[in-house]
Amino acid sequence: MITKFSIVDFLQKFPNDGICLDYLFKAKYGNLDVCPGCKKENPKFYKIKGRTCYSCSSCRHQIHPMVGTIMEGSTTALQKWFTAIFLFAVSKNGVSAKELERALGVTYKCAWRIGHKIRSLMEDDDQLSGLVEIDESMFGGKKKGKRGWGAAGKELLFGMVERGEQGRIKAVVVKSRKRNVLIPIIRETVEEGSVVHTDAFRVYRMLNYCGYDHKIKDGAKIHQNSIEGYWGNFKNSIRGTHSFVSGKHLQSYLNEFGFRYNRRNSETPMFDLILQRI
Ligand SMILES: [Zn+2]
Repeated sequence: MITKFSIVDFLQKFPNDGICLDYLFKAKYGNLDVCPGCKKENPKFYKIKGRTCYSCSSCRHQIHPMVGTIMEGSTTALQKWFTAIFLFAVSKNGVSAKELERALGVTYKCAWRIGHKIRSLMEDDDQLSGLVEIDESMFGGKKKGKRGWGAAGKELLFGMVERGEQGRIKAVVVKSRKRNVLIPIIRETVEEGSVVHTDAFRVYRMLNYCGYDHKIKDGAKIHQNSIEGYWGNFKNSIRGTHSFVSGKHLQSYLNEFGFRYNRRNSETPMFDLILQRI
């Protein structure tokens, strides 16, 4: 397990592709009690020299740990992938393609692709419950010109977050604030019976009829501090890390931030949490 947050320690632990592959094999098949080939119990698998493949010592059944992962078919060394995952794991504000390009010594295009492949692992779809704050927020766009909802180049973010130390987030990019856009997302994301806090926007008024205990923000006990804080952190991080974020990829950045936020108290190191999804 990766516990130290230093790239030097990381590179000492994973100096080459072979060690990375062993780690990946154990991460994916660690509890292989029975060989899928000969059904032998407690099988012994050894690595085949010069290949990214392990073989059962009894029946020679082969296991390819990279198949079906984001690394499958990649010409980039596994150790570079591991380094990239490590950077995503320890970063607070996300990792730009530029940073990956420098850290891995690959082309910008390759770095960009690796970054998005890793982000593709980071989507959560667990349902939220308890006390859930719901809010929309705008992202990006030009400073001048039309302001407010629907202004040119602005993206609309929609988020739901459980209040409290263990609270989880789910945030998505939406096309509009219309009822037929927002309400189905809430019903899919937030368990019925939950308490939901929103602002006074009229679309939310029907939440009481959807099985929620709906409360409108009053500036005191009923507030949206968690989600508002989250938006602030997300926007600052994105601005600090990426020079440009297109609307098309904004969702993957929301997923990435959500993944980290939802596991901020996890005992398992973030590196292993990402690798579990590989
Ligand atoms: Zn076997």
